[in-house]
Amino acid sequence: MKENNIVYLDNAATTRPYEEVVAAYLDVAAHHFGNPSSLHLVGYDASRLLREARDRVPSSLRVNKTHEAVFTSGATESNNLFLFSVARRYQNRGKKIITSMGEHPSVLNVFKALEKEGFEAVYLPLTLDGAVDPEDLRKAMGKDTILVSIMGVNNETGAMSDLRAMSAIVKGYPKCFFHSDLTQAVGKVDVPYSLLDAFSFSGHKIGALKGSGALVYRKNIAFPSYEEGGEQEGGHRPGTVDVAGSYALSLALERSVKEAKENEQKVALLRDKVISYLESRSDEFAINSPASGSPYLLSFSLLKKKAAVYVEGLSEEGIAVSSVSACSSKRENTSYVIEAMGLGKERAAHVVRMSFAPFNTEGDIDRFIAVSDELLGRLVNQR
Ligand code: PMP
Repeated sequence: MKENNIVYLDNAATTRPYEEVVAAYLDVAAHHFGNPSSLHLVGYDASRLLREARDRVPSSLRVNKTHEAVFTSGATESNNLFLFSVARRYQNRGKKIITSMGEHPSVLNVFKALEKEGFEAVYLPLTLDGAVDPEDLRKAMGKDTILVSIMGVNNETGAMSDLRAMSAIVKGYPKCFFHSDLTQAVGKVDVPYSLLDAFSFSGHKIGALKGSGALVYRKNIAFPSYEEGGEQEGGHRPGTVDVAGSYALSLALERSVKEAKENEQKVALLRDKVISYLESRSDEFAINSPASGSPYLLSFSLLKKKAAVYVEGLSEEGIAVSSVSACSSKRENTSYVIEAMGLGKERAAHVVRMSFAPFNTEGDIDRFIAVSDELLGRLVNQR
């Protein structure tokens, strides 16, 4: 793959790691290879770097006084760890757990699995803007609710739910925990981290490497690992820790947070440019993302052509966008998120997701527009 000629607009699936982060990863992996649990100088050296990385995560997000981090293999594992562990540990307080219909499968499917264990799961609807209405949460909450998990930024549309308002509602129920999947939010948009009991994210969406992630949680929350093994990561996650991956994650997080404001403005310009184009071709496209959403994501539907054929056509010309989010693209081509927003089955079946990174340029968007126009002229209407 000759990367120079590629316009990569699928950064929500994964993005290019920062070069200095890859360099730091290689240095730690090669020269600080000790097992951080080992009681000798090589272990101490690795343990020191791990501690540095662990401190850097909550301090980058300015929650170091109240929160700490467990390193995981990514947001999927972080979501599974917190949700399964907390639901099972605190089920004597109540069996009701609340999430939304727009969550990533790594949250939705945990809730479905917990339902099979006897929990009463509530799936809050999405508004036409793709967010969760805090009033719906307020109505669903009850004395027996022990866990709420609502994502900060939706990974298809960029819709942002009001976590501040929802955390205030959950606070009225002191026995209930509030978790948020912040995979598409951390290091990108403003989030009230300190109000959350726990949140998850992945390294490879913010310039670190695949296979790294974290669960950040309020210090006094007890949640045992549901895997059997050693006592690593404070007993939350057994297994020898990936020091190099965790170290790289912490550096990428620090940089993303530092540059977040500037990057947000950069990608907003690119997103606006694509929106203007789509609006100029309203015979062919309908925009699904709300105007107020994260500028990193843009979802739209094709009104006459097949989305899969359009995405393939773009790919043949060196432009990478996604037909549905990468997590479900192998199984089916319909977006349950767009359906849950009430935009209809047809719109949901022909979704394109474009997602931006600070390294994208206006030239990338110009090239997309030129190729898209050429494709629209060439592809026959298939619906
Ligand atoms: N949650 C959200 C919102 C995501 O976008 C993703 C990645 N698509 C995940 C969780 C899972 O992340 P990972 O595949 O890195 O575990």
